[in-house]
Amino acid sequence: MQPVSHDSINTKPLVGISACLTGSPVRFNGGHKQSRYCTEVLSKYFDFKSLCPEVAIGLSTPRPAIRMVESEPQAKVVYSKGESQDYAPALREYAQKISPALHSLSGFIFMQKSPSCGLGSTTLYTEKGFPKSSTNGAFSQELMLNLPNLPVTEAGRLNDSRCRENFMLQVYAYHEWQHNVMPNLCAARLQAFHHRYKLILRAHCEVRNQQLGQLLANMKGADIHQVANQYIHVFMQAMQRLPKQKHHASLLMRIYKILKQHLSSTERQQSMQIIEHYRQGIVPLIVPMTMLKFLVHKYQARSDSAVWDAYPFELGLQNAI
Ligand code: SF4
Repeated sequence: MQPVSHDSINTKPLVGISACLTGSPVRFNGGHKQSRYCTEVLSKYFDFKSLCPEVAIGLSTPRPAIRMVESEPQAKVVYSKGESQDYAPALREYAQKISPALHSLSGFIFMQKSPSCGLGSTTLYTEKGFPKSSTNGAFSQELMLNLPNLPVTEAGRLNDSRCRENFMLQVYAYHEWQHNVMPNLCAARLQAFHHRYKLILRAHCEVRNQQLGQLLANMKGADIHQVANQYIHVFMQAMQRLPKQKHHASLLMRIYKILKQHLSSTERQQSMQIIEHYRQGIVPLIVPMTMLKFLVHKYQARSDSAVWDAYPFELGLQNAI
């Protein structure tokens, strides 16, 4: 079976987003935290499903500021000043309740630092009111437990070019899985998906790539849905790892080795030189990728890899990594 790319899917990825990031005035102070990158750039590529968990559990806008305070067995979410009830159980319950309706999401962009929506950036206070550590918000934590394969990020991380590229890669891969693999699940589709992402997987985590290869090699007689569940869980874990420049350089070398037999000596020399320039940080990833893509098409060698069309080219995600 030929691997199928995300280009063949005629829906945009549906991505959840904290409502304040879209410009909705839902914050405690009646304001918002609009992310222009989300509303002006990503909105062209994603369909957004926005939600505000604090409003959804019945808190008014404006409302007193809340914060996360350490407690056993789980942290509390209470007013920053004065007495209040603990809102964490309601936020967790809302995440549990809404999760089945969010299975079609291909990603989620959370607002950073929020006691409800934060992703590793929420301040956890001691009972005496001192900042102690950073953690996840009550809603985001519970949502991730219920949708463990969902690609997630905070809006602030999208300012970092490597984090941005990695999140987009995860969203499009998961979207492809949801729309190209799962609807007609069979061994051939699993193999085709793995074949398509193999080069990318190797750049993210060689150990998990091998684990996935073995899983597929031994799937004869196994329940295909169980294999698929195991596969996508390990696949998304691998994709969460942020490749360093040296991992991308190794990826470029792997592509070069696939191509090498077809290339003229000048093309070999130029390819090696440009990969070396990338390794030294002289040019961004898009430069060797563009050259290798041209050569792949010229010699029709391994053009079915997701390396070439993992996400829309126009997003310019490789221009600054
Ligand atoms: S961070 Fe989350 S809970 Fe707070 S206003 Fe934004 S969407 Fe609502």
